[in-house]
Amino acid sequence: MSRRCQTVVRRDVIDGNVVVSEFSKAPARLRSSGFARSSLAIVGLAGIVACLGLLGAGYRGNVGAALGRAWGFAAGLSLAALLAYLGVPWAYCRWNQWRLRRWVVQQKRVVLTLDDGPGRQLTRAVLELLAARGVKAVFFLLGRNVRENQDLVRHIHAQGHEIGSHTYDHLHAWKVAPWRSLADIRRGFRAIDDALGTRAGRYPFRPPYGKLNLMTLLYLLVKRIPIVYWTIDSGDTSRRGLGDNRRAAQLSRAAGGGVVLAHDFDRQAREYNQYVLDSLRATLDTARECGLQPCTFSQLRTPGKGGRR
Ligand SMILES: [Zn+2]
Repeated sequence: MSRRCQTVVRRDVIDGNVVVSEFSKAPARLRSSGFARSSLAIVGLAGIVACLGLLGAGYRGNVGAALGRAWGFAAGLSLAALLAYLGVPWAYCRWNQWRLRRWVVQQKRVVLTLDDGPGRQLTRAVLELLAARGVKAVFFLLGRNVRENQDLVRHIHAQGHEIGSHTYDHLHAWKVAPWRSLADIRRGFRAIDDALGTRAGRYPFRPPYGKLNLMTLLYLLVKRIPIVYWTIDSGDTSRRGLGDNRRAAQLSRAAGGGVVLAHDFDRQAREYNQYVLDSLRATLDTARECGLQPCTFSQLRTPGKGGRR
C-alpha cells in the first residue's frame, strides 16, 4: 500500500466469524510499541547529535575545537546513516514505479493487484468477477489472513492467479525496528508456504504502506525477491471517503496502462466491497476498449520466452 494507503487492518471474532476491520490509524498498542523501538528514533538521535555538533563547533578553545570537529563528524555520519536507511528505499520505490509505468505502456498492459486479503467475502466475489472475464490477477496476501483462510489461498492459487506476499502483520517498515520489519516479511512468506504446502520461501512482495527500510530492501534484493509497487491507486482506502469508482479505469486509459492497486480484505462498511468490484469491472471494461491486455506481474516482467529478467 502507498503513502496514501493509511489503512491498518485488525481481525476480530464476532459471533464465531472472523471479521476484518479497517482502521485509518494503527491501534494504540501497535503505535506505542512500534514507535518506542522505531527506526524514527534514528531521526531523534541524528537531531541531537547534529545540535551537539553545532554547539561544539561554536567553541573557540583547542579542546572545544576538537570537540566541535568530533561532534560535527558524528552529526554528519548520523545524517548519512539516516539518509541511507530511509532515503535509499524511498529512491528505490520511485525507480520501481517508473519502471512499472514503462513496462505497462510498452506492452499495453493492465495488472490488477489485490492487497491485504484474503477476505472471506470480497475475495470470493473478486474471484468470480475475474473468472467471468477470464482474467488473472495478483493477490498480495497478508500472512495473518492467510492463516485464517488457507483453503481460500489454495483456491486462489488453483485458479491460476499469482500469489504475492504483503508481510504477516502489515508492519510499517519506518515505524518499527528493522529486525521486526524483516521478521514480518519472512513470517509472511512462511504463512503462504504453509498454506500451499510448498517451501518456495519467496513470492513477489509488496511492502505495506509502500515502505521499506534499508535492511528490508537489501534482504529482498539479495534474495532476488521481486518488489512490486503500483502505478494507479483505485482509491478504495481513501481517508476522505469513497470517490469515483471509475478512477482507476480513467487513469489506466490516460496513462496507456497501469498496475492497479485495490484491496480485498473484508470491511465492515459493505459499500467499500462494492466499490472495489465496480472499480475492477470498470477497469477491465476500459482495458478492453483501449486494447490493454490484463496480465499478472510475472507476465509483465517476463513477456515471453527470453523476455525481460
Ligand atoms: Zn496493505
